[in-house]
Amino acid sequence: MSFFSQRVSRIQPSPTISITAKAKELKQEGKKIIDFSAGEPDFDTPDNIKKAAIEAINNGQTKYTPVNGTKELNEAIIKKFKRENDLVFAPDEITVGCGGKQVIYNALVATIEKGDEIIIPAPFWVSYPDMALLVEGHPVVLDCSLENNFKINPQDLENKITNRTKWVILNSPSNPTGAFYSELELQNLAKILLKHPHVWVMCDDLYEHIIFDNLKFKNILQVDEKLRSRTFVVNGVSKAYAMTGWRLGYGAGPKNLIKEISKIQSQSTTHTSSISQAAAIEALKNSDEFINKNKKIFQERRDLIFSKLKDFSSLQVFLPQGSFYVYVCCNDLMGKKKDDGTEIKNDIDLSDYFLDEGVAVVPGEAFGCSNFFRISFATSNENIIEGCDKVVSACKKLK
Ligand code: PLP
Repeated sequence: MSFFSQRVSRIQPSPTISITAKAKELKQEGKKIIDFSAGEPDFDTPDNIKKAAIEAINNGQTKYTPVNGTKELNEAIIKKFKRENDLVFAPDEITVGCGGKQVIYNALVATIEKGDEIIIPAPFWVSYPDMALLVEGHPVVLDCSLENNFKINPQDLENKITNRTKWVILNSPSNPTGAFYSELELQNLAKILLKHPHVWVMCDDLYEHIIFDNLKFKNILQVDEKLRSRTFVVNGVSKAYAMTGWRLGYGAGPKNLIKEISKIQSQSTTHTSSISQAAAIEALKNSDEFINKNKKIFQERRDLIFSKLKDFSSLQVFLPQGSFYVYVCCNDLMGKKKDDGTEIKNDIDLSDYFLDEGVAVVPGEAFGCSNFFRISFATSNENIIEGCDKVVSACKKLK
């Protein structure tokens, strides 16, 4: 009998975290690697946010806080939802955890019985299926093709719903594709969901503030209030305010769900750091300038990467409307051979080969959609130019 649980044997360590670690290791050995694998903004946390954290330390805000965060943070989150999303939440409809990741995990722990189904549109953020498996749920992958701009076809969604479906996860803008749902597209999904009142919706809005082409963000709750009693909106400070290391995410939803999440959190992590909470209050209140500046920078980088790769016919590049990722189809390279005669059989082989050639990308397999790879443009223009040149010349060397 194994000492370790079956639960843990079902899951893998996060592939994106391990690729970034491998790239870092190679860099430490002195190899020049252009890192296109990062899942975090390359900017530093703004000074006003750091200052708020330092003040919190100096003011002795170093003790336990309520499980769902301080009153001030709760108020700042409620105001954020009102100001930016026109959504009104009461204090007991808000939870705060150690990152959006923990908030999502807590919601699944609170709701999933063995075998319950969670519909996960693919390509997906790597952690959704493994979290579903950890709580003994059944991840039901809903393929969203390149032809449909990596978005859910409403009829396909309906076909996946069964009486065991507990959640549908929506992530717009998406990691890894940058696909962004318009209001009309969300309305069409809402129409299906309204026909199935036992299904809850988890909207993962982590990339809300990284959108391009003057698009206006909306989540499904903003387009259809009738879903209110079964929608859980997840957000966090990681991506919008360059605060990945601070570990603070939050969720808003029906108070019966928040109550169960709070129970779980009170018996596991208690709450996220009091210092991070103080920093998050400042981030939520005073970041418009930072957000607008970054949006512009990310859009310029997206355009740069697109212009570097779009004419290279062996790769098909999907133009993202948000996030800081480009999802690239490498179908045409499958079956080609490297100089040493070994064949590139899949996107994992290709990503390993790219790493040997000095560029770290994440293989599409990690996101449930093979023959693609993900490039993160959370890096400088110089790195984008050099990295794209390396990708193209590595591809050209394949026979
Ligand atoms: N959701 C998506 C789509 C993500 O890409 C990430 C992080 O990469 C998260 C949630 C979790 O972010 P955090 O736990 O840092 O708030």
